[in-house]
Amino acid sequence: MVKFSGNGVSGGIAVGKLFLFRKEKREAENRRAKDAGREEERFEAARAEASRQLGELRKKAFRDAGEEGAGIFEAHQMILEDEEFLGFIHAEIAERQASAEYAVAQAGDKFAGMLAAIGDERLRERAADVRDVAERLAAILSGGGDAEELLREPMILAAEELTPSETARFPKEKLLAVVTRRGSEHSHAAILARTMGVPAVVCPALPLSPEANGKEAAVDGDAGEVYLEPDEGAKEALGKKRAERLEEERRLRLLREEADVTLDGRRVRLYANIGRPSDVDVALRSGAGGIGLFRSEFLYLERSDFPTEEEQFRAYREVLERMGGKKVIVRTMDIGADKTAGYFGLDKEENPAMGCRAIRICLSRPELFKTQMRALYRASCYGNLAVMFPMVASAWEVKKLKELAAEARGELAAASVPFREAELGVMVETPAAALISDELAEEVDFFSVGTNDLTQYALAADRQNAKLEAFYQPRHTAVLRLIGMTVKNAHAAGIWVGICGELAADVSMTETFLRMGVDELSVSPSMILRVRKAIREADCGAQRPAPCREDGMIRKGGRKR
Ligand code: PEP
Ligand code: MG
Repeated sequence: MVKFSGNGVSGGIAVGKLFLFRKEKREAENRRAKDAGREEERFEAARAEASRQLGELRKKAFRDAGEEGAGIFEAHQMILEDEEFLGFIHAEIAERQASAEYAVAQAGDKFAGMLAAIGDERLRERAADVRDVAERLAAILSGGGDAEELLREPMILAAEELTPSETARFPKEKLLAVVTRRGSEHSHAAILARTMGVPAVVCPALPLSPEANGKEAAVDGDAGEVYLEPDEGAKEALGKKRAERLEEERRLRLLREEADVTLDGRRVRLYANIGRPSDVDVALRSGAGGIGLFRSEFLYLERSDFPTEEEQFRAYREVLERMGGKKVIVRTMDIGADKTAGYFGLDKEENPAMGCRAIRICLSRPELFKTQMRALYRASCYGNLAVMFPMVASAWEVKKLKELAAEARGELAAASVPFREAELGVMVETPAAALISDELAEEVDFFSVGTNDLTQYALAADRQNAKLEAFYQPRHTAVLRLIGMTVKNAHAAGIWVGICGELAADVSMTETFLRMGVDELSVSPSMILRVRKAIREADCGAQRPAPCREDGMIRKGGRKR
C-alpha cells in the first residue's frame, strides 16, 4: 500500500479500481512523422479497433434503445468507411508526412467544418458525428481507451487534470471518485464533482503510469488522501469513517422536509446549483427549494456545434417540469476561461478569465444570445423561470441584454409561440457590479452573488491556480464588504439578493450572511441539508427580509423592463 496526501476538493470516501484517463495527444510535436508506412499501419489498426468498439456500442444501443439508438453508431461506422474521409487521411500521412493523430484531427476538423457550414440542422448533426469518430480514433491512437466503454463498472477516475467538460462527460453512476494531479478547489471541474456528490482529491504525487491502471485504490475526499492498493487496515479505517459519514447524512436527511427558517422566524430560500438536467434528481432528493443556479453553459460543452434552440428548449423544459413549479434560475451561458468549446472559434487570449467570456460573447454575437433567450422563454410556460446574466461590469451591458431579451420575446410573439415573463437578474461577480449595484438594481429583479469569481477579481488571485490557495480567500473582508454593499443597494431598490458561489455553502458564514440580509443561498445539492441545519440554528436578530415580489411585495416604482 502507498498513501498519497493531496487536497480534498470534494468530500466523501470511495474504494474501487483506478481508471487512468489519458487525453488525445494533438500537440504540435506529434504533427510530423518520419515513417509514413508505420503511421499508415497505426491508423489502420486504430480504424479496426474503432470499428470494433462501435460494433459493440451498436449492439448495446439496439438492446437499450432499439433501431433508432443503434442507427447513431451505424452512421459512425459508415464514416470509418467513407472514401473521402479515408482518402484525406491517407494523403495527409503519405504526402505531408503527418502523424496518424494529426491526420485524423485534421480530417475531423475539415469534414465537420464543411458540414457545419452548410447550415442545415441534419447536416450539423452529421458534423458532430464526424468529430466524434475523429476523437474516438485519436483516443485509440494515443493509447487511451474508450472512456464510456472502459467505465463499464464504477471506477475511480485518475487524470493529470480534467476540464469541466471532461468531468461532465462521465456518467455519475460510474464515477466512484476523481483524482487529478493538478487542479484547484475553485475550478469548475472541482465544483462539478461537488455538484455530482463525487469525492475528489487533487494529488500531485499520484503516479499515473500505465501499471496503476486497474489497481485498487481508495479516496478520502475529506482528508485529501489517496491510497494505492490499500491494505486491510486502511480499508477498515476508511469503512469506519464512511459509516460515520453515512450516519451524519442519515441525521441530516431528517431535515429534508423541514422549513428553511431561522431561530428568530425568518424564512430563507435555500436552492441548489446544478450543471445539467440530470442533476435535478439529486437536488430534489436533498430537499432544495428551487434551483438557484443552472450553469447553462454545460449544454454547450462536450459537443462540436452550438446546441440548437430546440435542444436548449427541451433541456430547460425538463428542468422546469421536474422542479414542479419551484423557482429555476438559469444563468445564461458563461463560456470562456476554463469552459471552452472549440466551435465558438474564440481567439487565444493571454488572460482568458478577463477576456471574451459570458455576456461579452453574447453582446458581440447577439444571435447566439437570442437563440438561448428564445429557448428559455419558450420553456418558461412549464414552470417558474428566472434568468440571470453572468460577468456583468456595467449598466449598459444589462440594458443591452434586456433589449435583446425583449427582441427574443418579440420574435416569439410574432410567431405566436407562447411564453411567460421571467424575472431577470444580474450575477454580482465583478467588484464593479458590486460597486454600482445601486445602478444595476434599477434594471433587474434580483441579484445573485457569484463569490467564486468575485473573490478572484477582488483579490486578483486566479481561482484556477492551486498555488494561490493562500491568497484566494472568499472570506476576505474586501469580498464581504462587496457583498454587504450589494445587499444594501438591492434592498434599497426593493429587489432580493442571493449568493450562489461556493461561499454560500460555508456554514461558518451562514449566520453572517443572514444578518447581512441575504435572502437566498444556493449551494451544491450535497450541501443543502448542512446549510439547512445552519439556517435553522441561526439567529438574525432584528434583520428583516427584503421586500421582494415573491413575498407579495412590489419593488419601488414597479418592475423595470
Ligand atoms: C461564481 O463565480 O461564484 C459562480 C457561481 O459562477 P461560476 O463558479 O460558474 O463561475
Ligand atoms: Mg462565475
